[in-house]
Amino acid sequence: MKKFLIIFLALLTLSGCAPREEKASETIFCMDTVMDIQIWGQDAQTALKQVKTLLQELEATWSANDGKSFLAALNRGEVKPNAEQQALLDRAEELSRYTGGAFDPKLLSLMQLWGFASEIYHVPDEAEIKKVMKDGRWDLGALIKGYAAERIVQLLEPLKVSRAVMNLGGNVQTYGNKPDGTAWRVAIQNPNGGDPVGMVSVEGSEAVVTSGNYQRYFIGDDGKRYHHILDPQTGAPADNELSSVTVLCADGAKADALSTALFVMGLEKGSAFWRQNPGFEVVFVTQTGEVYATEGVDLSHCEFEVLSRED
Ligand code: AMP
Ligand code: MG
Repeated sequence: MKKFLIIFLALLTLSGCAPREEKASETIFCMDTVMDIQIWGQDAQTALKQVKTLLQELEATWSANDGKSFLAALNRGEVKPNAEQQALLDRAEELSRYTGGAFDPKLLSLMQLWGFASEIYHVPDEAEIKKVMKDGRWDLGALIKGYAAERIVQLLEPLKVSRAVMNLGGNVQTYGNKPDGTAWRVAIQNPNGGDPVGMVSVEGSEAVVTSGNYQRYFIGDDGKRYHHILDPQTGAPADNELSSVTVLCADGAKADALSTALFVMGLEKGSAFWRQNPGFEVVFVTQTGEVYATEGVDLSHCEFEVLSRED
């Protein structure tokens, strides 16, 4: 009887000590986009608070269009980067070299010329483009949300967070595993609206980042659509067969830079780049609705063509 009582008390104590998991979630507006954050863990509310603070700090530092940011001051030549800031600038330059210049973190003047910062849009002529093309002012818009996701993952690691998933305006980041052992499933948005193009499954911590011509654009007086991903070689919106590119990669900043770069490269050059470079997977969606997925992607709910390394 005494033995049973001890076991019963031990079980009671254990269950009393078992960490209770809570969920915290919030939708915020940051970095010029809507962000949805969901966190599960012992103290998910505290983790969520810290994530929001980090996002606000990163926005205040790296916004190219807020005149009070560190990046704006750097572009005016007023400040020098500290070691952490320099490391991100170096990484951006490295990713630019890696993508043969398709990702170019210094296109701010061109973005402003087209009116994407002010939303007072303008289709510039070649002379206007040429004038500002190489003036080298920083714009990390194609990388910063992926970098933020990466920093959030580092923040969550010591915080007893069991899992998290967030959508930072087209940049989905997963963290940890779902308790039932199933994979995270991330929808790829349909560039033409309506049901998603398909679902990708990912395990653990992974960045799933989409760049698309439908995310930010204006219609010119000529009736043409001008979107926000510029081809650094022409200074004009990348003009090819693609509607969107989704990159899956463990490294958030790299995934983000690559989604932009592969969009600029187009389907043929983009798939050749993937064949030559390991460490990430891609889903390409064309303007005519065809879907191409590299062989490592677990894509469901759609018909698609598989791109293999040997092609
Ligand atoms: P994303 O949505 O990640 O593809 O990034 C697009 C944003 O990055 C734009 O709004 C610009 O601020 C900037 N951008 C546009 N074209 C490029 C490019 N070729 N390389 C790097 N950044 C770019
Ligand atoms: Mg990007």
